[in-house]
Amino acid sequence: METDQDISPSDNIAAIKARIAKATQEAGRPAAAVGIVAVSKKHGIERIRPALVAGHRVFGENRVQEAQGKWPALKDEYPDVELHLIGPLQTNKTKEAIALFDVIQSLDREKLAKSLALEIEKQGRAPRLFVQVNTGEEPQKAGVSPHNADAFIKTCRQTYGLTIDGLMCIPTVGDEPALHFALLRKLAERNGLAGLSMGMSDDFETAAQLGATHVRIGSAIFGARPV
Ligand SMILES: *Cc1c(COP(=O)(O)O)cnc(C)c1O
Repeated sequence: METDQDISPSDNIAAIKARIAKATQEAGRPAAAVGIVAVSKKHGIERIRPALVAGHRVFGENRVQEAQGKWPALKDEYPDVELHLIGPLQTNKTKEAIALFDVIQSLDREKLAKSLALEIEKQGRAPRLFVQVNTGEEPQKAGVSPHNADAFIKTCRQTYGLTIDGLMCIPTVGDEPALHFALLRKLAERNGLAGLSMGMSDDFETAAQLGATHVRIGSAIFGARPV
């Protein structure tokens, strides 16, 4: 890894941008097509703030409750922050999630689609939505199965009136990530979806080459997560 936890998060972001630029150039894609979601889960405000001061604005958290403890104050200070929910969402937290997040990447079941649609209507606030696909069909992992993705996206759109921006996946550990990224891209293309959230600290260059519009990077920016 070329990044280091002793180096500041903003220096790490700059190094990652350079690596994305190189990867996208090789693939004939513009570097600007790939946005970095800085995954700040488990890190405190003191570790997040330097990235904000340096100008980074797009962040990801995987738990609603943890994000509620950190981000309302930071968003007051930096109103142009774009906060992504990248972890599973329980329907009893939909209200809080709609109020706080600008993008929800973990839409993966009809009950949640229904709950989000009701709450979006109630609050008059519509975060952008990504459908999570369980590309490896792992029983313990969230996400719709690739076989059900087309039908689920249709249900979100037609039954619940939701606008879907893209798809998200987390490849199976030990698999070749490129296979998962290519599958996600195929599913997005055939459903007319522009957004592709794929790639993390260890595989973001591959994802950037295969069409990612969002890479979700935690440890390569903020260092190892505190336990
Ligand atoms: C934690 C997390 C990431 C970031 O992982 P790193 O390997 O630290 O970059 C990305 N996506 C999801 C869904 C995560 O939960």
